[in-house]
Amino acid sequence: MPYDNDNIFAMILRGELPCIKLYEDDHTLSFMDIMPQADGHALIISKEPAETLHDLSPEGAAACIQTTQKIARAIEAALDVPGTLIMQLNGEGAGQTVPHVHFHVVPTSIGQLRST
Ligand code: ADP
Repeated sequence: MPYDNDNIFAMILRGELPCIKLYEDDHTLSFMDIMPQADGHALIISKEPAETLHDLSPEGAAACIQTTQKIARAIEAALDVPGTLIMQLNGEGAGQTVPHVHFHVVPTSIGQLRST
């Protein structure tokens, strides 16, 4: 399927929708999730017009991982949580609702995960 230029994250990238920005570089943007699964839930998106991880260039994929590392480290330090869950959904069948590649960083602890 062709990339949908009007998806929410494409609009955020173009500055047409607001976001609570955490970090930006030439290849990626990170901002707070609007419906957080835990306090501090952040998203990292690529600046490439790619729907899934499979559609990213190798450089784009590497940049997303590097930014995800930065954000996860910063969140763990800022919120003093023991760890973070990194999620990345590809395709509607996997539960992806925004058709622009993104990584979730969810502050968590193994205790919370076992109790859900
Ligand atoms: P799911 O919706 O099942 O978590 P995705 O992996 O596609 O699937 O996640 C999309 C994420 O984008 C959701 O966590 C949702 O809360 C978030 N989101 C949707 N719209 C916005 C927005 N305008 N700003 C920030 N986050 C958003």
